[in-house]
Amino acid sequence: MNSNTDTSRSTWASAPVALHARTTVEQVEEGPELAPKFDQDADSGDVLMLGYMNHEAFVKTVQTGEAYYWSRSRKTLWHKGATSGLVQVVEEMRIDDDQDAVWLRVRVSGSGASCHVGYRSCFYRRIPVGKEHEAGKELVFTESSKTFDPSLIYGDAPNPTLL
Ligand SMILES: [Zn+2]
Repeated sequence: MNSNTDTSRSTWASAPVALHARTTVEQVEEGPELAPKFDQDADSGDVLMLGYMNHEAFVKTVQTGEAYYWSRSRKTLWHKGATSGLVQVVEEMRIDDDQDAVWLRVRVSGSGASCHVGYRSCFYRRIPVGKEHEAGKELVFTESSKTFDPSLIYGDAPNPTLL
């Protein structure tokens, strides 16, 4: 792909126990084909959603400063907010040690919601554990109301989410 790739591969072939620190974006781009990506609200610190980035989504996010995903259900590159206007502007982008997961801190345009069912966070339900689980099995909604009506924004578009 590029000179860094070639150098890395030939080094690996001749010295298989050697580990090489990856310190450039080009080297990161050699990473896995599909990486899970967490989004965290830059202000509140709330975890907003989990999506997946393929190589193209990774590169577009780096180049534009806005979050792109690979939609596994639609099998297409997905610019978050293209339909809804709820664009995720990236404040900070990190990659983990073995380069198979990405973490973004984002500011969300519009109503500030990231979840396509209308909540700010996709993680809007808490599962009771331990003593709370013994007391009851009901999921606890952590957001009191939706920030928008999904049917007004997405209309009849197919929605794989079962609620
Ligand atoms: Zn969601």
